[in-house]
Amino acid sequence: MPTFTFSAQVAIANPIIFVFKRTYKTSRSNMSTETENKATVLIVDDMLESITILSSCLADEYHLLTANNGHTAIELAARHLPDLILLDVVMSNLDGYGVCEQLKAQPCTTEIPIIFVTALLNAADEERGFALGAVDYVSKPISCTTLRARVRAHILQKKMKDKLLAFSQELEQKELEADKSKRLLNAVLDAIPIRVFWKDPDARYIGCNRHFANDNGMNSSEEIIGRTDFDLMPERAFALQAFAHTVITTGQSLLNQEGAITTHDGKLTHISLNHVPLLETDGSVIGIVGAYEDITQRKHTFDALQDAKIKLETKLTEIVSLQEKLLEAAVRDPLTGLYNRRYLTETLDIMLAQATRNKVPLSAVMIDIDHFKDVNDSYGHPTGDEALKCLAQFLSAQARTSDIVCRLGGEEFLILMMGASGDNAQMKIDQYRDDFSKILIHYQNNEFKLTFSAGIAVYPQHTENSKKLLEYADLALYAAKHNGRNQVSVFTKKVR
Ligand SMILES: [Mg+2]
Repeated sequence: MPTFTFSAQVAIANPIIFVFKRTYKTSRSNMSTETENKATVLIVDDMLESITILSSCLADEYHLLTANNGHTAIELAARHLPDLILLDVVMSNLDGYGVCEQLKAQPCTTEIPIIFVTALLNAADEERGFALGAVDYVSKPISCTTLRARVRAHILQKKMKDKLLAFSQELEQKELEADKSKRLLNAVLDAIPIRVFWKDPDARYIGCNRHFANDNGMNSSEEIIGRTDFDLMPERAFALQAFAHTVITTGQSLLNQEGAITTHDGKLTHISLNHVPLLETDGSVIGIVGAYEDITQRKHTFDALQDAKIKLETKLTEIVSLQEKLLEAAVRDPLTGLYNRRYLTETLDIMLAQATRNKVPLSAVMIDIDHFKDVNDSYGHPTGDEALKCLAQFLSAQARTSDIVCRLGGEEFLILMMGASGDNAQMKIDQYRDDFSKILIHYQNNEFKLTFSAGIAVYPQHTENSKKLLEYADLALYAAKHNGRNQVSVFTKKVR
């Protein structure tokens, strides 16, 4: 083990210099710790002999400072802040009481414990010393054992007091910081438009932000503490308590629960509510934090949008229906309600393609009322119109669902018969012709009968061209008319 020469730290107080030397066999680290932990004692006495005795008793345990008069003692105490002062009572110029008085008057030295050292000790002196703030007395002649015990006890007490003070200051600091954090948190909670509250495990309120307090008719969050939902909103209390109970017992959050509450001013408010468990570090539930947002405006906007959407959809349906009616009207003959020439033009090619696909013939039957001009001339146009309507109804009633019946204009009609050969079509139309000729047409005071002539052309037998198909049907009709009317004629090359 290395050997160190250790000098006790002794302050120099003019004009006396004391250096106490001791030799320790110790490790460097132990020595360092020991040095750092040593307390400092200031010895004040105007007698060199007394300083020597006191120092020799304490040198191995403490750092020592010495002063041989009161003024130096005050200066050293202020500069080094020793842990304890041994103070001679009887000194010239400034005595121990004076020194004690001044040290206690200075904030930096007021807490340093002072032990008076004196030969003359009577009750009055002792009382005076204690009244000035001394902690103890040591009598001369000095007993080293007593001195060391007293010094050790008071330094220990001083250290404990210092620790207590430091702890108390630290606590105070932490309380200040906690208070600051709390004020910051409250400011944040009050700044957001969301209502926030927290409850204990019995679902009793232990805090809230200002908005929540205001909603419940209170000015501050303190007023809410200790209350339950039965105090604040009895009509919703069971539902709210059920939420709280679920979160507390399961430890699970309940989010985005929509509902409604009535605020203290009677306003019904729609809310979106969240409940989150308040957990201890070990995961146990010690309460609940709740927050809700006023979604009344959003809900009204949503409802208004829904209404607008429904109205828009209704309007759209009306428009679509109107469009369909317009489209239908565009392809219908207004007098008879049959399809018109436009419809025929649009659908003929489609029907021919369909016939090709299904490998069936399609007969186009052109019909024209015989001597129709005479009806108009004899009975007037309204009667003529009535005759056209009569034939239209007759043809519609006779036709199969797959047949298309059109009025091409004037007294001219056309029937497209899907799947009908020329013979079949001729047979059917001839029956129509015969039946129609027997119908008595009434209109106002007029009664009369009419006949019609018809010409048939067949796809693809006669032509595969839609335009030609109508032309050939027309030619066949012309032939029927030419041959004396009231008859049905099928297109032949001869006719052509
Ligand atoms: Mg003295």
